[in-house]
Amino acid sequence: MALCSGELGQHNGLPVTVIVSTTLQELEKGAGVAVTGGGSLLPMGDLIRMASHAFHYLAVFDHHTNQALYLGRTKRIASPAQRIVLHARDRGCTRPGCTVPGYWCQVHHLTDWKNGGRTDVDTTTLACGPENRMIETTKWTTHRNPKGQTEWIPPPDLDTGQHRVNGYHHPERHLLPEDDNGP
Ligand SMILES: [Zn+2]
Repeated sequence: MALCSGELGQHNGLPVTVIVSTTLQELEKGAGVAVTGGGSLLPMGDLIRMASHAFHYLAVFDHHTNQALYLGRTKRIASPAQRIVLHARDRGCTRPGCTVPGYWCQVHHLTDWKNGGRTDVDTTTLACGPENRMIETTKWTTHRNPKGQTEWIPPPDLDTGQHRVNGYHHPERHLLPEDDNGP
C-alpha cells in the first residue's frame, strides 16, 4: 500500500519503488527468486503479485551475454530508465570484493565523461561513491567485457592478478564454471 500511494518521494532521481531483476527463464517458469536493488531475495510468486499493480519497468536480458534486450516502460523518461537497467544488470557496486547494493550506488562512466564517454546503458555501470571517486583520481580503469560484465583493471604496479569482476551481487554466476566469478 505504501508503494502504491505515490507519496514516498524520490531517491537518487527515481520515484521510490522496488527494483527487481530476474531472467526470462525464471519468469517463464514462475519459480525461483528475483534479486532486489538492495540485495534481498524475492520469491517469484511475490514478484508477479507485486508487478500486477505496479508501474512496469521491465528489463529482459539474454541469459548468456547479459545484453539488455528490451526495456519496456510506461512513461517517456530516459535517465531513470537507464538507471533501472543498471540496477537490473549490475545489482550493486561492480568493483571486485565490494558488497554495496545498487540502491546506494552512483552511475559510473566506463570512459570518463571528460574524455568523451557517453551516457548509455552500455557505457555506464554502478559503483559506490568512494570507488567512483577513487577511479576518477587514480590510474584504475574500467571496461565492459564480452559477457556484459564490468572489469576493473588495476594500474600495473598494483596488479597482483586479482579478480577483474565482482561476483558478489550475482550468485547465479557461480553455477557457470567458465566465468571469472570474483570474490
Ligand atoms: Zn564499491
